Amino acid sequence: MKELLLLLKRFFGYTTFRPLQAEIIQRILQKEDSLVLMPTGGGKSICFQLPAIYMPGTAIVVSPLIALMKDQVEGLIANGIPASTLNSMMPEEERHRVRQLCIQGKVKLLYISPEGIISELHWLLPRIDISLIAIDEAHCISHWGHDFRPEYTQLSVLKENFPKVPIVALTATADKITRTDILNQLKLRDPKTFISSFDRPNLSLTIRRGLSKKEKIAAIVHFINRHHRQSGIIYCMSRNSTESLVEELSEYSIRAVAYHAGLSPDKREKAQDDFINDRVNVVCATVAFGMGIDKSNVRWVIHYNMPSSIENYYQEIGRAGRDGMKSDTLLFYSVGDILLLRRFAEESGQKDVSLQKLNRMRRYCEADICRRRILLSYFGEETDKDCGNCDVCKNPPQRFDGSILVQKALSGIFRTGQTANMHLLIDILRGAEKEELKEKGYDKLKTYGVGKDLSYKEWKEYLYQMLQLGYIEIDYMSAGHLKVTPLGRKVLFGEQQALMTIYQKTKDFALPTKKGGYKYRPIRPIESTSVEETLLDSLQQLRKQIAEREHTPAYIIFSDDALEDMVQKKPVTLDEFSEIRGVGQLKLDKYGKVFVALIRFVLRLPKKE
Ligand code: ADP
Ligand code: ZN
Repeated sequence: MKELLLLLKRFFGYTTFRPLQAEIIQRILQKEDSLVLMPTGGGKSICFQLPAIYMPGTAIVVSPLIALMKDQVEGLIANGIPASTLNSMMPEEERHRVRQLCIQGKVKLLYISPEGIISELHWLLPRIDISLIAIDEAHCISHWGHDFRPEYTQLSVLKENFPKVPIVALTATADKITRTDILNQLKLRDPKTFISSFDRPNLSLTIRRGLSKKEKIAAIVHFINRHHRQSGIIYCMSRNSTESLVEELSEYSIRAVAYHAGLSPDKREKAQDDFINDRVNVVCATVAFGMGIDKSNVRWVIHYNMPSSIENYYQEIGRAGRDGMKSDTLLFYSVGDILLLRRFAEESGQKDVSLQKLNRMRRYCEADICRRRILLSYFGEETDKDCGNCDVCKNPPQRFDGSILVQKALSGIFRTGQTANMHLLIDILRGAEKEELKEKGYDKLKTYGVGKDLSYKEWKEYLYQMLQLGYIEIDYMSAGHLKVTPLGRKVLFGEQQALMTIYQKTKDFALPTKKGGYKYRPIRPIESTSVEETLLDSLQQLRKQIAEREHTPAYIIFSDDALEDMVQKKPVTLDEFSEIRGVGQLKLDKYGKVFVALIRFVLRLPKKE
């Protein structure tokens, strides 16, 4: 155990294991099989990388995407660990060279695709002294998972051909069926399943509903300006909206790139590369983006539309804050999203499952109890505490008796013969002076104008609440007409009180003026009264320069967490620097001096100790 901790410090710069890491590593060292479920950013990689370093021979790591392999290998090499990939994109000579190195035992970790496994099964693999086999993103094996890959289903050959080699399968998402699928298909022997907490307390959770497109843009511009120079992803439902959002944002001097499956591979790769290397901070993407991204310093994720399931949502927000530092997530949803997603679900091959998943997602968005508690219970974990880091915890709902308000809306619905959608109903309630209302005679209704005292936004919010309280429902089959439910009738006839939540206004509905507003400044050391702020900024700039020189992403040099630790501890000697989280031997040798020199400079200390 002590030896493992020394290796952990030496190669990764960490002094303690995260929960379950040590147990999983021990199990691999005992040559037994395991299934590991950890959330994105939980620290799965070290579970197989550390034993791979410790054991003689070469570890085989099966991974579904070339980008993912490349990223991990770069990270390992940056820490002084000989690792390589073998994939179809490499020229044959290069592959030949890697094969030879493996046979000579000079590679500690070999990353390979599932197709690669099959083609190397009879010649290369038997010639390697295999220490362990890790199967990353193991949920790809299952039809039930969300990234099913047929190539994964052939991996049972591994156990059959190498019965003595321990196998560890790892994934961030696996419900019960998927889990059983993984165990069965890989033919694991007496496997032990490790499930770590899915809690990601460093991610803040916020949901905003019913915003118009313009209001969403305004909220996003405000949000990005608050996250100046930080990397983030905006997930959109359609390809078109990724591109139009990029344009909208550019009008506020926010540079973003679009990413979706309809782009050419070149364009996609460039967008991804620019993002990883901090040349662009914002990506507007469809769900196609992210699987291959190990970027640890994504600081925020926005969902421009509601995701279709909690699994997808959790995986997507999980791309923020993988380094464990505070990160923000924001989700917008509207009735329009739900209508569209319902249609997709109905047309999907698995209508019942899809609709059920969508419903759970919708209930999560609409709930007014701590959001993290809902998420954790979805993943089978119970907590008895509110998290304090979601919008519900931060703005606890304040209730009032909304019976009269509800009655106004319900009678409005009845008087249109239940043929009004939300927009029309609000116009009627507010007595909007619109020709079309008059043409149809709505201005003669008794309810015309009874809700003048509330703004359009407020009505919209209260109607959403009435939906989630079950007083009204939306007829998805007929253009979103509102219908009164039996429960709603009780409120209408005074048999039941309607407890509603006071609508709290947010300030960011106004857009800053275009162009004149926000601008990206060129990089220069900031003047600040806080030495920490200046220090962090300077460290980031140094890291960026090194990253550019080495043609590698900045977080491969040092994670945000490592920089933060430097700001905290202000190491001014190499010894002190070696204590920083994320500083292993190689990085100490390579970067220690320049970083210490910079810190001394910022702190106005003499150059030498
Ligand atoms: P996953 O593969 O589960 O998504 P990673 O293996 O990429 O997560 O780890 C996420 C982050 O946590 C990485 O930046 C990694 O270096 C860091 N990490 C992993 N284990 C530890 C540890 N024991 N102490 C501190 N940081 C760790
Ligand atoms: Zn909470």
